[in-house]
Amino acid sequence: MPKRRTKRGEERTPLGGDADVLICGASFAGLAVARELADSGARVLIVDRYEIGERQTSACAAPTEWLRALGLEGSMRQTFSDLVIHTPHTTVRMGLPWTFSTFDYRELCGLLWEQSDAEFETAKVEGRSGTTVHTDRGDLSAPLVVDALGWKRVLDGNAYQPPEAPLSRGLEVHPWGADDELEIWIDRSYVPAGYGWSFPAADEVRVGVGSFDPRFHVKEPTLRLAEDLEREPVRYQGNWIPHRLRPAAADGVFFAGDSAGHCLPLTAEGIRTALYFGIACGRELRAVLGGWKSRDEALRDYAAFSASHRWKFEAMLRVQRLVPRVPPRLLALMLRGMERRSFVHWSFGHYLNIAPPEFASPPPPAPAREPLAAAA
Ligand SMILES: Cc1cc2nc3c(=O)[nH]c(=O)nc-3n(C[C@H](O)[C@H](O)[C@H](O)COP(=O)(O)OP(=O)(O)OC[C@H]3O[C@@H](n4cnc5c(N)ncnc54)[C@H](O)[C@@H]3O)c2cc1C
Repeated sequence: MPKRRTKRGEERTPLGGDADVLICGASFAGLAVARELADSGARVLIVDRYEIGERQTSACAAPTEWLRALGLEGSMRQTFSDLVIHTPHTTVRMGLPWTFSTFDYRELCGLLWEQSDAEFETAKVEGRSGTTVHTDRGDLSAPLVVDALGWKRVLDGNAYQPPEAPLSRGLEVHPWGADDELEIWIDRSYVPAGYGWSFPAADEVRVGVGSFDPRFHVKEPTLRLAEDLEREPVRYQGNWIPHRLRPAAADGVFFAGDSAGHCLPLTAEGIRTALYFGIACGRELRAVLGGWKSRDEALRDYAAFSASHRWKFEAMLRVQRLVPRVPPRLLALMLRGMERRSFVHWSFGHYLNIAPPEFASPPPPAPAREPLAAAA
């Protein structure tokens, strides 16, 4: 097991006190909220159990336009204009109307952090009483509390437990190596409902398998896919992936990213949406800090904004449920039909518009703070 960077032993001094905004979770969603609050004049505190950028949570592929819109180009590793889909009966190549890029997680988080002026502490969040958050280092209070802690949604009393909950599971390995293609396998010999992937990122390739059925274990198929691709099964990372929206506001708390189920069904693309809803949440918080809205109004408006996307998430969930039922030969025929440029442009255009890159505010002319390494 890798040893994660966090405060240990005597460094774990007691924490306490108040902030104007307390953001729990310093990954895509939490850092996007903090970025949106830069220069608001508020005391913004982020807590995470690990140092920023320490624990990669995904294959880290996102639409390039989103990374550019947020000024995160420096973290990009490789860009792809085609998506190659393999099934047992065909291989199709879709020329995308926009590109995907893989990126370095630590660098991306560092760049987002530089654009915020929040404070950061490592602490494990354990629960909440009202607007007081209990951590293993003490209690922290703020009138505005954000749960960006991922699928566990720690700050909600209603716990979700796999495998009963609407969660997919994903596991990948990160062998060193290079490749040119962004590839997907829809192949029931690997996973009955789900897909496998190979996402190159300059000097490493992220190879994994995701199952929409949380009961199906993905370790063996991940190893098999890696073996079939002649990749070493090293440096594992995996997690549960939500595939249903949950209320984005509950009991006075804002939820953003996986904690609100903001990961898209079917594709399990959750980075772009965590950034998108994180920004939306940050804007609502800013309105409260600026005195334009009450906290309750902001909670209501943010929840309504999130819920207005429900039909799109539900439509994708229906396709997620349908694909595993389509006989493989028919699926191959359908994919060949979908390879047409006009269809790919139409469908991927709509797909991007679920959370479009134009939503992002431009990065500040100069970062609000020192780079992460210098600040540490
Ligand atoms: C194997 C795999 C591959 C994936 N690949 C992609 C991909 O290529 N592209 C894509 O768009 N999506 C991908 N996803 C989905 C994507 O990773 C998630 O949707 C995304 O990470 C959600 O971001 P988030 O900020 O909401 O939560 P997370 O990234 O899960 O971050 C949660 C943060 O909260 C912290 N935290 C959790 N619990 C506590 C606690 N109790 N106390 C303190 N801190 C805590 C964690 O340390 C972490 O920093 C993948 C998922 C998996 C599992």
